[in-house]
Amino acid sequence: MYKIIDGKAHSKGLRQEIAEGVIEYKQRTGKDIGLAVVLVGNDGASQVYVRNKIKGCEEVGIKSFAYYLPAESSQDQVEELVKELAANDAVNGILVQLPLPKGLDEQKILSLIPVSKDVDGFCESNMGNLCMNRPCLVACTPNGVMKMLEREGIEIRGKNAVVVGRSNIVGKPMAMLLLNADATVTVCHSKTKNLKEICAGADILVAAIGRAKYITADMVKDGAVVIDVGMDRDENGKLCGDVDFENVKDKCSYITPVPGGVGPMTITMLLFNTLAAAKRSL
Ligand code: NAP
Repeated sequence: MYKIIDGKAHSKGLRQEIAEGVIEYKQRTGKDIGLAVVLVGNDGASQVYVRNKIKGCEEVGIKSFAYYLPAESSQDQVEELVKELAANDAVNGILVQLPLPKGLDEQKILSLIPVSKDVDGFCESNMGNLCMNRPCLVACTPNGVMKMLEREGIEIRGKNAVVVGRSNIVGKPMAMLLLNADATVTVCHSKTKNLKEICAGADILVAAIGRAKYITADMVKDGAVVIDVGMDRDENGKLCGDVDFENVKDKCSYITPVPGGVGPMTITMLLFNTLAAAKRSL
């Protein structure tokens, strides 16, 4: 019998803990915690993400500073704003919503965010520290997966973990986190041969591919923990994950649904990182 990992419930529990941490910080320092969110242009999905991030801040008592720049903003204008935020003591975390409009140098803009305020955990120093298993701000989605595993009491040490996907924002940090937690980790990607056999050997299988229902029942070991990071559309345009949930679930010990699994944890981990960034700056 499988157990569904309820990302909404974990997210709610974690937000309560974060809210308590924010109160404690304010009592100790007499200061607010601030997150700056920068949105350039008017991409619909990005607007929704930014709105949800601001709502999340309100929920846990973090002050948010939202900056909406027009799509035609110059590289200099965006860079100037990020530099100002980097120097602003009231701002503990800076998030530049991606993707940026074409013509802007994303990497250059992100590189202006100080490591200590990089609440997305995307910068080279944070990624490097993660690889070296040193304290750092970790990318929100994979860190959210780790939190869910931890809160479910799922043992990672010594387990065979397979991560399908090697992006810088999900697959790679996910693999590092599992390795740091003493799993034996295999990372797969589009050039991997015998993907099915590798996945079928996984005690913990994380799918971060971006292909609807790609992980089928024959790729899953009996009793596996299956984590679905994917946010895809099925043939009817309905939101679904990378895992063929209906046919896979009965083989699992634990499985995350889409929606309601990994997704709700991502913004919560941004709030978690903002609190962590503030505490580290003391
Ligand atoms: P990405 O940058 O497109 O990376 C996808 C990875 O999957 C790549 O490493 C790619 O391999 C690999 N891949 C593609 N086709 C494959 C195949 N047939 N077999 C094996 N590997 C294959 O995507 P991403 O940003 O990591 O996101 C992955 C999924 O997670 C997407 O559905 C995205 O929407 C979702 N996501 C969800 C959240 C959330 O909050 N829930 C957050 C971020 C992303 P190559 O490197 O060889 O190309």
